Amino acid sequence: MNTSLETQTLGAAVAAKKPLIISGPCSAETEEQLIATCTQLAATGKVDMLRAGIWKPRTKPGLFEGIGTKGLPWLKKARELTGLPTTIEVATARHVEDALTFDVDALWIGARTTVNPFSVQEVADALRGVDVPVFIKNPINPDLELWTGAVERIAKAGVKQIGLIHRGFAAYGNTQYRNAPMWHLAIEMKRRMPDMHMICDPSHICGNRHMLAEVAQKSLDLDYDGLIIESHIDPDNAWSDAKQQVTPERLAELLDGLHWRR
Ligand code: PEP
Ligand code: MN
Repeated sequence: MNTSLETQTLGAAVAAKKPLIISGPCSAETEEQLIATCTQLAATGKVDMLRAGIWKPRTKPGLFEGIGTKGLPWLKKARELTGLPTTIEVATARHVEDALTFDVDALWIGARTTVNPFSVQEVADALRGVDVPVFIKNPINPDLELWTGAVERIAKAGVKQIGLIHRGFAAYGNTQYRNAPMWHLAIEMKRRMPDMHMICDPSHICGNRHMLAEVAQKSLDLDYDGLIIESHIDPDNAWSDAKQQVTPERLAELLDGLHWRR
């Protein structure tokens, strides 16, 4: 374990927000959808940061692969209208450059990228000399060395504010979860990097709406530092991850039902 990583946190501003609540659509689809979702989220007063997928890493070709760079001005507009910081997934150097050009406040590395050291290194190199917070999702497979390695690559590029996102691990066949939480692995990661913020992503763990509250509560009971939950003005008609998204109104109810250990 590289002890220098222990001082890499998401910064006092974010820490003060604990638990940090990030929400927004799985994917930016249209300007109207993104702005409506983000303004409704802001109106709840319960969200600290807005998320949206701009480039989507889909398992199979032919599915919606994200609106692309065209969506970045929409997100910038959402940021201006709500006053909330924004975060998007990046997987290539070009994504990083485009995100920074449009003032995205924080970046995240997705589960399909964390598994690939070439991609993580490319993102790390693009981040050299840039002071932007980066969240690193666990890899799809239950391999803590890959997750740790991704953190080390990003930290070695000089990124000072790094957070972890636990989004569960793929299992073959039908299980209760879309991605099994394997809580013990996230707990071990927290043990390895005690000063780093750990955010739970119940949306990608559950893959459905009805288990979100239960998984979110479990993470809070384990003293996680925040939640990232997908939301959409019209979840059933979302262009990706329709089953797991909730309306901003439902998100607010869900958050109200949780017990925080502040
Ligand atoms: C997402 O956040 O929409 C996403 C693609 O997540 P993950 O990398 O966890 O699958
Ligand atoms: Mn998603």
